[in-house]
Amino acid sequence: MKKEFVVIGLGRFGGSIVRELVEQGMEVMAIDKFEDKVDEFSQIATHAVMADSTDEAALRSLGIRNFDHVIVAIGDDIQASILTTLMLKEIGVKKITVKAQNDYHEKVLERIGADKVVHPERDMGKRIAHNIVSNNVLDYLELSDEHSIVEIAANSLLIGNSIIELDIRAKYGINIVAIKRGDDIIVSPQANDVIQKGDILIVIGADNDINRFEKRVMQ
Ligand code: ATP
Repeated sequence: MKKEFVVIGLGRFGGSIVRELVEQGMEVMAIDKFEDKVDEFSQIATHAVMADSTDEAALRSLGIRNFDHVIVAIGDDIQASILTTLMLKEIGVKKITVKAQNDYHEKVLERIGADKVVHPERDMGKRIAHNIVSNNVLDYLELSDEHSIVEIAANSLLIGNSIIELDIRAKYGINIVAIKRGDDIIVSPQANDVIQKGDILIVIGADNDINRFEKRVMQ
């Protein structure tokens, strides 16, 4: 069954979520308080509706409770974002994801029961910083405060060695969970698999251990 989503706030972030969900075949109701935003998404979203999400009656009249997941993508107006989240909770929405503008905003959202709080600017900043510090780090995904998954381009210190020869798990406490090789992905590579030129290693582990590995092997 198709899942049904609501996206509130059609700025760059909310807008790109709407486009991507539609691309993935989902039903999306897109809401913004400004008419020009609603017009922009009228041909893209399943429904595009003009409403102020801080107006509880308006939210209820849209039948928002029946949707699977509501994404609050209001940026600058932190008060509106908090109030909207609070009302969505009261209405009994099953799952609420909210974009936070800063750490204080994030804390409040977690306290009032947002199921997931995202921080796209901060997260993207971290990912780009890792890539700037080490050219070989292609991507970086935070799993928790202390653990991450990192995509690392194999360099001359790694190429030609088998996984067992590199002994990364014993030396650094991190695991190679997959290798991207051209269009192929080798999931759970074996001990005797040899790293080739152009390989991209997908590594999982504690941040401290990954940093140690990056410093020793990737410079
Ligand atoms: P982005 O960086 O994603 O572009 P932004 O910083 O531009 O976000 P805002 O412009 O503050 O974010 O908000 C995103 C959208 O949310 C805007 O189009 C705005 O009209 C809409 N919005 C703000 N408050 C409300 C509200 N109470 N009800 C509905 N939509 C709202």
